[in-house]
Amino acid sequence: MLVVGGGPAGLAAAAELGLRGVECVVLEPRAEVSHLRPRAKTTSVRTMEHLRRWGVADALRAAAPLPVAWSQRVTFCESLSGRRITDFDNAFGLTTTRDDRFAEAGQQVPQPVVEDVLRAHIERLPGVELRLGHAASTLIQDDDGVTVGVRGRGGARYDIRARYVLGCDGAVGVTRDQIGARYVGRSDPRPNFNVVFRAPSFDTQLGPAVQYWVLGATSGLVGRLDLAGTWWAVIPGIEAAYGAAHASELITALLGGPVPHELVASDPWTAHMMIADRFRDRRVFLVGESAHLNPPWGGHGFNTCVGDAVNIGWKIAAVEQGWASPELLDSYEPERRGVVEQTVASAEANMRSLAGDLPPDGPAVQLAKRPEFHSLGLVLGYSYAGSPVVESTADHRDPVDVTNYTPSTEPGARLPHRWLPEGASLYDRLGLGFSLVGPLRARGPGVSTLADLARQKRIPLSLVDSAANQPFLLVRPDQHIAARAADAADLDLDLAIGHRVPGTHAVSTTSSSASGE
Ligand SMILES: Cc1cc2nc3c(=O)[nH]c(=O)nc-3n(C[C@H](O)[C@H](O)[C@H](O)COP(=O)(O)OP(=O)(O)OC[C@H]3O[C@@H](n4cnc5c(N)ncnc54)[C@H](O)[C@@H]3O)c2cc1C
Repeated sequence: MLVVGGGPAGLAAAAELGLRGVECVVLEPRAEVSHLRPRAKTTSVRTMEHLRRWGVADALRAAAPLPVAWSQRVTFCESLSGRRITDFDNAFGLTTTRDDRFAEAGQQVPQPVVEDVLRAHIERLPGVELRLGHAASTLIQDDDGVTVGVRGRGGARYDIRARYVLGCDGAVGVTRDQIGARYVGRSDPRPNFNVVFRAPSFDTQLGPAVQYWVLGATSGLVGRLDLAGTWWAVIPGIEAAYGAAHASELITALLGGPVPHELVASDPWTAHMMIADRFRDRRVFLVGESAHLNPPWGGHGFNTCVGDAVNIGWKIAAVEQGWASPELLDSYEPERRGVVEQTVASAEANMRSLAGDLPPDGPAVQLAKRPEFHSLGLVLGYSYAGSPVVESTADHRDPVDVTNYTPSTEPGARLPHRWLPEGASLYDRLGLGFSLVGPLRARGPGVSTLADLARQKRIPLSLVDSAANQPFLLVRPDQHIAARAADAADLDLDLAIGHRVPGTHAVSTTSSSASGE
């Protein structure tokens, strides 16, 4: 297996493959992770659940400079020294109390810290090799595999032969072009200017918040990168040249007065709403930003990339280990395209009311910005219903409700989470392969029938007991429900592993309503 690119998508793919004992090489040109350009800060509840599966959730929280207990709030204000307009509490899934709906709370943490933690993790996984300073340049496919031309450290060129390639090389990588795919969509015409600065002597009387939105003559967002005086700011509508020449003035306006500070870095960027016209060509898959780009508003970008990596990661592992059919891989694009389309739409909707577009009025801000800070419906509520490897049930679906998450056992949904009486997470009971979740104690012969079938087909299946009045659920390695039945013998294992893919078709971009996810 070859993973091209070691950003969040590539590192997540390697974590998923490594967890399952699949050997892979990750090519990444950047020898060091740069901490000057923090980019993503929101690690979602769902990404934290994946990190928990990989055994690194606690390591990430320990490395995160802002503990969840420090703040779970987004504050809107006239400046960091001025009037408070309104607050959003428990934004981005941040909470210090246990919630039955998820196994992990969200975490605010700069993307470079996530990358450092994941790099350290995958380097400890047997069979995973992180090859820093190496970049892919060409990909040529034949019936049995892919030959990837690589430029190594010092410019030396060599080839790697791989059965499958995951193109995790982002917007500016080579994989998308090499398979003849292209982005379709548009860019926001407005420029944005990011700065990182040090102002150790500054504090705000507004109290702790993970983001301060300043609705003033100069509008933008400010937040702490750590508790030692390093800050970030995003200033929409500012051209790179103007921002570079006036960065100190802009910071002074956002903070609400002159504050001693030192500029550390700046980063101009543009928001894009782009989705590749296809995510795959035979043995090569586009994963993460190589397949799609969305505006950062709502903090979904990096999390969606991790979701892609998990989806293709377990499927390739199942095929490589011989217990799933290669047709299982046909479900990657239809399952992920729907999620990506929902995410791009939500991020674009959030972008319609940036700081400069909002009135300094609490109720108006609450109305406009709620889906940006409270988006569990999108983060946990996406469904793979309609996938060729998910049992087809729902005949009616409502559009996804970005804000409200309603747990569901509808096939395609993420298995509803709950805390078990002894304090463990239900998710910790699931196996590495498929899991049968249901009332095992009231088991009829159906449980043994399914377990025997799984054994014959060498499909790893764990048995997880649940309350007596619940249906039997066949849960995939990614915690999504493949099938539901009153009798375990009726669960279609063959469909779930791609043995009977009825022909690829697009997954609906809506989520199942009765259901929630
Ligand atoms: C200002 C800003 C703020 C953001 N805020 C958020 C946020 O709050 N929450 C969120 O979820 N997302 C956010 N994002 C988005 C997030 O940064 C991206 O979604 C994420 O980095 C994408 O991960 P990726 O691994 O797909 O791509 P990348 O991070 O681009 O990684 C691609 C990797 O491939 C490597 N590469 C490139 N070419 C090659 C090659 N030829 N061979 C091998 N490797 C190659 C690159 O070095 C890089 O490491 C933000 C982005 C920006 C710009």
